[in-house]
Amino acid sequence: MLLSVKGLHKSFGDLEVLKGIDVEIEKGSVLAIIGPSGSGKTTLLRCLNALEMPNSGTFEFHDGFSLDFDKKLSKKELLTLRRKSGMVFQSYNLFPHKTALENVMEGPVIVQKKNKDQVRQSALNLFEKVGLADKVDLYPHQLSGGQQQRVGIARALAIEPELMLFDEPTSALDPELVGEVLQVIRDLAKEGWTIAIVTHELKFAEQVADQVLFFDGGHIIEQGPPLEILKNPKEQRTKQFLNRIL
Ligand code: ADP
Repeated sequence: MLLSVKGLHKSFGDLEVLKGIDVEIEKGSVLAIIGPSGSGKTTLLRCLNALEMPNSGTFEFHDGFSLDFDKKLSKKELLTLRRKSGMVFQSYNLFPHKTALENVMEGPVIVQKKNKDQVRQSALNLFEKVGLADKVDLYPHQLSGGQQQRVGIARALAIEPELMLFDEPTSALDPELVGEVLQVIRDLAKEGWTIAIVTHELKFAEQVADQVLFFDGGHIIEQGPPLEILKNPKEQRTKQFLNRIL
C-alpha cells in the first residue's frame, strides 16, 4: 500500500464536497476515478496533495509518514506531502514566459534546490520519455495542447514523486490530441508508476486501471476492478451514470 486515506472531509463554506472518503492506493497501481461533474473528484485529487486543505481525515504512507488533518500541520509536513505527489492539471498550468525545459526544471531547482546541471540532464531524459526531445526550447504558446500537456507530465515527474495525480488530463484537448497524452500515461503505468487519475475516458480506464472508483455526491459509491465497475456495476447510480455517458 502506498497511501491509505481515512475519513477525508472537505467543505467549501456550507458546501460539503467530500463526505468521509476512505481510499487505499496500492503501490504501482492505477486508480481511475469516474463520476458526474461537480461530484467532488477534482477536490479529492487536490486534497491528496493539499492543494486544497482537507477539514479532517488522515493520510498514512507506506514509509510511515502520516498526517492527521484534525490537527494543524507544520510547514514541513505540508512540504513532505507535496513532494510525494506530482499533479497534472486539466489546463496544463505551464508558465507562459518560460520554455518547456525551464518549466520542467522549475520545481527541482527553485523549490527542491537541486543542482542545476543534474536537473537539466534528468529533465532532458524526461523530454525523451514524453516524446518531446526536439521541443525543449519552445515556449508553451508554440506547442500544441497535447504537447503542452506532455510537458505538464514531465514537470510533475521531475520532482520524482511517489504518486502521480492526473486531473482530467485530456479534457481540454482536441479529440485528435487525446491519444498521445493517454499513451504517455499508459507508458508510465507500464513502468510501474503509482497513478490516480480523474478521467472521462472509460476505454482508457478499462484498459489501464487496476481499480475504478465511482464517485458521486461526495461519496465513493463503489470501487473495484474495471470490468466489474464498468461492465457489471452493482449500484443503481453507477448504472445510470454509465448509461448516460456511453
Ligand atoms: P468534479 O471534479 O467532480 O467535477 P469538483 O471537485 O470540481 O467536482 O467540485 C465539487 C463541488 O465543489 C462543486 O460544487 C464545486 O463548485 C465546488 N468547489 C470546488 N472547488 C471550490 C472552491 N475552491 N471554492 C468553492 N467551491 C468549490
